[in-house]
Amino acid sequence: MAIAMDCPHCESAPVETVRTAWFLQGLLLFARWGSRSYVGCTSCTRNKVLGSLALSSVLGWWCFPWGIGTPVVLLQNVASAMEGANRNALGNLLADQGVSLDELEVDADGRTPAQKALMVGVISVIHSMIWADGDADEREVDTGVDIARQTLGDLISASELRTAFLDPEAPPEPDLPHIPGDARVILMKAAATIAAADEVIEESEREELRALGRRLELPEMVADTLIASLDQPENEESEGVKQIAADTLGVTTSTPLAQVHQAYQAARLAAAELDEGEARAQHVDQLEWAYGVLTGGRVAA
Ligand SMILES: [Zn+2]
Repeated sequence: MAIAMDCPHCESAPVETVRTAWFLQGLLLFARWGSRSYVGCTSCTRNKVLGSLALSSVLGWWCFPWGIGTPVVLLQNVASAMEGANRNALGNLLADQGVSLDELEVDADGRTPAQKALMVGVISVIHSMIWADGDADEREVDTGVDIARQTLGDLISASELRTAFLDPEAPPEPDLPHIPGDARVILMKAAATIAAADEVIEESEREELRALGRRLELPEMVADTLIASLDQPENEESEGVKQIAADTLGVTTSTPLAQVHQAYQAARLAAAELDEGEARAQHVDQLEWAYGVLTGGRVAA
């Protein structure tokens, strides 16, 4: 099955594998030796390994005694370059970055399980809010379509949404607790946006949101923070913070949340190629912060 994420190197093929490139660089009595993981499509990762092989074959020999290890490093790279796509290794590396491989595999319609679950959840929540008073007001349907599009982006067309919302028959119930963690927070955020759409947030709406948070099995703090944020009107400062967060993930402040989620996962994947250490940890912290600002938080799947 294909993965819904582009290779970070060519940005045209999907991510297929992870490959280890080994390097050895000698300098008289010293040597730099180690390995590095590359994530991407089969051919880009192979090129990275071959690049490391070429470099080590030139620079590996020039120290004693470690230089005599050069042929081993070259062979390790040959073996790594010849390997087929390694799904297990890719899954493990993604898991280290807090991303689940299962969540990234697309179905026949080109959606990941998280996207599909989010779509079913958003449609169901908005449908029940529109029909809460027994009929579907044209204005409410318009607002519902807008909010669904803000959350889901191109996952579903506006006309399909309109048809679903105008149908008095309730859409399929989402299997709420089985929606992946991040998608649950996005769904909660979408529900909060609907509640705030008419600018008056009634106590009954707050209670409904809290109930939804419990049905989603979200940490109480996540739900409370989202509900509390409804009372704080957007100001220049919060707009500025959102802009910084959007820049960090390479999106805009109006990018649909489903795509913000994808951008975040891609950034985490790219972070896997950085050298392990303080700088990478800081970078990952920044990504998590930015994702939290734009979507309302991150919870484990
Ligand atoms: Zn590639």
